[in-house]
Amino acid sequence: MDLKRFDSSEGNVWKYVFTKADMVAEAVLYRYEDFYKRTVICCSTMSGCPVGCKFCGTGNKFVRNLTSAEIIEQIQAILRDQHIENVDKIGKRFQIMFMSMGEPLLNWDQVESAVNTLHDLYPNAELLLSTIAPNNHDAWNRLIQLSKEIPKIGLQFSIHKSTDAARDILIPYKDKMNLKDIRDIGIVWWSETGRHPYLNYCIDGTNNTDEDADRLMALFSPVVFNFTFSVVCSANESMKDAGFRELDTVRAFEQKFGAHGYNTRIFNPDGQDDIGGGCGQLWYVQKWMKERRTSK
Ligand code: SF4
Repeated sequence: MDLKRFDSSEGNVWKYVFTKADMVAEAVLYRYEDFYKRTVICCSTMSGCPVGCKFCGTGNKFVRNLTSAEIIEQIQAILRDQHIENVDKIGKRFQIMFMSMGEPLLNWDQVESAVNTLHDLYPNAELLLSTIAPNNHDAWNRLIQLSKEIPKIGLQFSIHKSTDAARDILIPYKDKMNLKDIRDIGIVWWSETGRHPYLNYCIDGTNNTDEDADRLMALFSPVVFNFTFSVVCSANESMKDAGFRELDTVRAFEQKFGAHGYNTRIFNPDGQDDIGGGCGQLWYVQKWMKERRTSK
């Protein structure tokens, strides 16, 4: 795979773009103070994506599934490029997140194999799977089994809306679980593993009313679920201000949950202005797809 690196002016985030003749993938490296304090790598599981989230830079274009080797190579190439050695052994926290591009549960054979190999290579690394929850029961059974075997696996559901109708517009992929199904499978995963699944909720200025909070709290118990509240980054490099970045609004919504005993966190990624370090900001994928279209 060819590799290009783009450095954020903030100094702690790097975007890596991997290409072959028939694929493109992006991964993001985040350093928190020091690589040996905390290193996070977000990697891709697909080239393009068939899910078609409205806020996402893939623009509903699916190129192909990545192989297990291509997923693992993203992690290894980044560690090599930055001369990060033994981060899993001597670092405090090393997190590999399957959340850059692609839906892991729709490429489960390859992702499962990559998770197993990465766990063998980096036994202390946290392995976080982020999913919109497709209706793939075989993959869910296997994921639950694997999560029992590997206690480093974490699970996050991308929900983003408090009603199924609104979520269906934002995430148009049809064959997915509704919010009640997500609650039910989340409870199963929690009771089988003893770990808390996260709900990822990007706040866009229209989904943060008191009614939204009430609906979410009625459905998802704080005994089981934790929340991540995120800003919305613009998927379009030429319209960087089109996202929703009002952290005070995000914090105000988060506080409603904190007051009811939820474990919450806020995600506001560095690098979202100059290298597309945030969710769905797949600028280089868009460029690659455009160049391919014009060269045909
Ligand atoms: S946000 Fe993730 S699941 Fe949604 S279209 Fe983009 S890559 Fe696919």
